[in-house]
Amino acid sequence: MSTGQTGGARERGKRSEFTRSLRIALVLVVALIAAFALYVETERRIDRANERLHLSHQLADQLRMSSEDLTRAARSYVQTGETIYRQQFDDILAIREGREPRPVNDHGSYWEPVTVEGKPVQTDGGRHESLLELIGRSGISEPEYRQLELAKNNSDALTRIEYAAMALVDTPGPNMPERRQTASQMLHDGVYRQAKADIMRPIASFHDQMDQRTRREVTEATQIATLTRLVVMGLGVAVLLALWGSVRKLRTLLGGTPDEVHAHIARLGQGNFREEIKIEPGRKNSVLGWLSQTQQQLHQLDLGRREASAQLAQLADFDPLTGLPNRRLLQDRVDTALSHAGRHGESLALMFLDLDRFKNINDTLGHHLGDELLVQVAQRLKSTLREEDTVCRHGGDEFVLLCRGTDANGAAQVARKVLSLAAEHYRVGSHDLAVTCSIGIAIYPSDGNSLETLSMSADTAMYRAKQAGRNDFRFFKAEMQTQSARTLQLENGLRRALELGQMYLEYQPQCSLHNDEITGVEALLRWNHPALGPLSPVEFIPVAEDSGQILEIGEWVLRTACRQLRAWQLAGLAIPRVAVNLSAVQFRLANLPERVSELLEEAGLSPSCLELELTESVAMENPESAIQVMENLSLRGVQMSIDDFGTGYSSLNYLKRLRVYKLKIDKSFVQDIASDQDDRAIVRAIVSLARSLGYLTIAEGVETPAQQAFLRDNGCDEMQGYYYSKPLRADGLEAFVRSRQLDTRAAPDRAKF
Ligand code: C2E
Ligand code: MG
Ligand code: MG
Repeated sequence: MSTGQTGGARERGKRSEFTRSLRIALVLVVALIAAFALYVETERRIDRANERLHLSHQLADQLRMSSEDLTRAARSYVQTGETIYRQQFDDILAIREGREPRPVNDHGSYWEPVTVEGKPVQTDGGRHESLLELIGRSGISEPEYRQLELAKNNSDALTRIEYAAMALVDTPGPNMPERRQTASQMLHDGVYRQAKADIMRPIASFHDQMDQRTRREVTEATQIATLTRLVVMGLGVAVLLALWGSVRKLRTLLGGTPDEVHAHIARLGQGNFREEIKIEPGRKNSVLGWLSQTQQQLHQLDLGRREASAQLAQLADFDPLTGLPNRRLLQDRVDTALSHAGRHGESLALMFLDLDRFKNINDTLGHHLGDELLVQVAQRLKSTLREEDTVCRHGGDEFVLLCRGTDANGAAQVARKVLSLAAEHYRVGSHDLAVTCSIGIAIYPSDGNSLETLSMSADTAMYRAKQAGRNDFRFFKAEMQTQSARTLQLENGLRRALELGQMYLEYQPQCSLHNDEITGVEALLRWNHPALGPLSPVEFIPVAEDSGQILEIGEWVLRTACRQLRAWQLAGLAIPRVAVNLSAVQFRLANLPERVSELLEEAGLSPSCLELELTESVAMENPESAIQVMENLSLRGVQMSIDDFGTGYSSLNYLKRLRVYKLKIDKSFVQDIASDQDDRAIVRAIVSLARSLGYLTIAEGVETPAQQAFLRDNGCDEMQGYYYSKPLRADGLEAFVRSRQLDTRAAPDRAKF
C-alpha cells in the first residue's frame, strides 16, 4: 500500500474515532436526560404521595367533622327546637350523600357556611358527589378504603340515633321538656358515645395505615431519587469526559485549534498563498497538515501563474526569438518619442533595416541557423544604439531602429556604424557568414509625424538602398514616393503583361573579333507598357524579381528565344547560339536544369545552341551551389557565361571551378577603353585571366572602331555593341543576318570591322 493510501486509512480511522467519541457523548447526553427525567418523576412521585396523604387526611377529616357537625346540629335542635338546626342536619347529610352540591371551596368544612341567616351560600356550580365516592377516587388502598367505609357506615348508624332523638321533639305538644330531656340523653349517653367512638376508631386506624403506606412510598421514592441523582451526576461527569475526549480528538484531527484552522482557511480564501502554514511535528496527517500541503501547492501554482503571465506580457511586447521589442511595443515607444519630440521641438530618426539576401541563408543553411544569425544581428544592433533608443524586430529579417533626438547627421552616423558592425563576420554553427544590410531613414518631422507615415518613408528609402546595390543607407526623399508609386504601377502591370502581349524580345548579335562572323545573339527582354511606354529591363526586372513574377517571365523568355533560334536555323540562318540572361531567382530554382532541358526539347533545339548568362554577383553569392547547378547544366550540353564580369567580386578560386566557357567583360570597362589607362589594364587582365583558365572573352557595349581595335589587338575573342548592331526585333535581326551572309559571300575575305 502506498503512503498516501496508508495516510488516508489512518485519517478515516482518526475521523471515525472522533465520530465514535462524539456518538458516545451523544448517547451519554441522552442517558443523562433520561436519568434526569426519571429523577424528576421520582420527586413527583414523592409529591404525589404526599398530596394523596394530604387529600385522604382531608377526606377522613371531612368524615369526622361531618359526624361532629351532625352531632352538634342534632343536639342544638333537640335543645332549642330551632328548625334551622334540623335543616342544617339534613343539608349536611344531603351533601355528604351527594344529593346536594358541595359548596365551592369547601375545604372540608362545607356544612358550616351552608346556611347563613337561613340562606344557602354559593352552592351553584358545586359538585354532586358523595363523600364516599370522593374517598373511593382518592387513590387510597382497599383496606384503607374499608376503614373509612366502616367509619361512614358507623356515622350513618349514629344518624339513626340522632334522627330518633330529633323525632322526639319534632311534634309540639305536651311533655316537651321531658321529651327534650330524653332526646338530649339519647345524644349524650354511653350508647351514643360508643357509637361516636366507633366512627373515630376506623378513622384513626385509617390515618395510621395511610401514614405508614405513604411513608413507605416516600421512603422508596426517596431512595430511587437518591439513586437517580447519583446516576445523573455520574452521567454528567461521563458526558463532560466524553465531550473533552471529543474535543481532544477534534484537535488531533484538525492539527490545531478550530480558530487556527479558520484563520488559515480565511487567509487562503483571500488568495494569500505565500504565508507558510506551520504544523506541529507528527501532525502531518491532519486538517492543518493538508491545509499546509494545499498552501504549498497553491503557492507553486501561484508562482507558475505569475511566471506565465509575465511570459505572456513578454510575448505581447517582445519578439520571442531575439527578445527585442515587437511592433506593438514599438508603437508605444514611437508615440511617446513623437509626443516628446513635438513638445520640445526635437527631431527623431526612424530607420528600416533589412538584411541583404537573407533568404539565401535560410534556403541554404536552414531556418535554424538563419534564426541564430538573426539573434546575433539583434545583439549587435542593440549594442550599437544608445539606451534611450529602440531596436525592434519588425518581422523576418527586418528591423526598425528608433533614435530619439536625432537629426539627419546623427542618423547617417548611426547608419554607418550599424552597416560596418553588421557586415563583420558571424560565427553561426560551423559557418563563417558575411551578411550586409540595407537601411532606409525617415526623419521626424519632415518625413512623417506618425509611426505609419515614418514607416512608409523609411521603407521606401530602404527599398532604394536595396535597388542601388545594397549594403548602404538612403534617406527618404519626396521623389522616392513617386518612384514607389511607379514601382507599384509596374508591379500591377507586370501581372498581365505577358498575357496581353506587351512583352517581346530583341536580339543583339555578337560577332567574332577573329573572323567577323556572327557567333550568336543575346535575347534582351522588352516591355511596352501601355501607359509608361517602352521600359528598360533594368527598371522592371528587379520589380519582377521582388514580386516573384520573374519565374514566369524568365521561362517565357527562354522558351521564346529557343523557339526563335530553332525557327531561324530551319529558315537557313547561320546563328550558332542564343544567349539568355538568367535572374538570380531563376538560378536558385531547384529544378532549373530539368526545366531548361524540357524547354530545349520542346523547341527542338540542341542544348549547345543555348547559352545562359549569369551575372558575376549571382554566381559568387553562393559559389558552391552555383558550381553544382552549372555542372548539371553543362552535363546537359548547355553553355554558361559570366555576365558583367569585373563588376562583382569573383573569387579566383571559385572562378576556376565554375563550368563556364565565356566571360562577358562589362561595358563600363569598354566605354573609356580608348582613353582610360586603368580600364585598358583591366580589360587586358581579364582577357589574360580568361585565357589562362581556358575561357573565351566577349566585350559588351562596343560602340567605336577604336574600342574594337583595342579589343582585337589585346586578344578579346568576341564583341557585342551598337558598333556591330543594336538589339533588333526578330525580323530586323533576320534581315541583319541575311545581309551579313550576303556580304560575306560577296566579299569573303574582307573584314568589316
Ligand atoms: P546585359 O545582359 O549586360 O545586356 C546588355 C545591355 O547592354 C543591354 O541593355 C543592351 O541593350 C546594352 N547594350 C548593348 N550594346 C550596347 C552599346 O554599344 N552601348 C550601350 N551603352 N549599351 C549597349 P538592356 O537591353 O537595357 O538590358 C539591360 C540588362 O537587363 C541586361 O544587361 C540584363 O542584365 C538585363 N536583361 C535583359 N533582358 C533580360 C532577360 O530576359 N532576363 C533577365 N533576367 N535579365 C535581362
Ligand atoms: Mg546579358
Ligand atoms: Mg552585361
